[in-house]
Amino acid sequence: MPDPRFKILTSASTSGPGDAGRTGSWRVERPVIDMSRCIPAKTGKHACHLCWLLCPDNVVSKDIEPEIDLEYCKGCGICAEECPVQAIEMVPDADFIEGAERE
Ligand code: SF4
Ligand code: SF4
Repeated sequence: MPDPRFKILTSASTSGPGDAGRTGSWRVERPVIDMSRCIPAKTGKHACHLCWLLCPDNVVSKDIEPEIDLEYCKGCGICAEECPVQAIEMVPDADFIEGAERE
């Protein structure tokens, strides 16, 4: 029988406001997942999920198409660094501000 201490592989908590409030507001870059490269999205099977496992804020879902809760993602880039198929790109948050122009 597996040791029950190892049944939960990631934090059992969910992301949410703590003393620091909405921590996603600190972010300067956000992770964007290319579903055409992401292993579970491509194969339609639960596989990999390293972004879910390694995110220190527990903001990535363990779905066939992983979703990132940008309210609490701090933009640390660990998921992009660890993705085995480079499916995650860190993109400047400013690119998503409506009407903003970048040089
Ligand atoms: S680490 Fe990369 S390939 Fe694995 S689930 Fe996350 S985005 Fe998909
Ligand atoms: S950038 Fe950091 S906080 Fe955001 S989803 Fe990736 S690992 Fe989690």
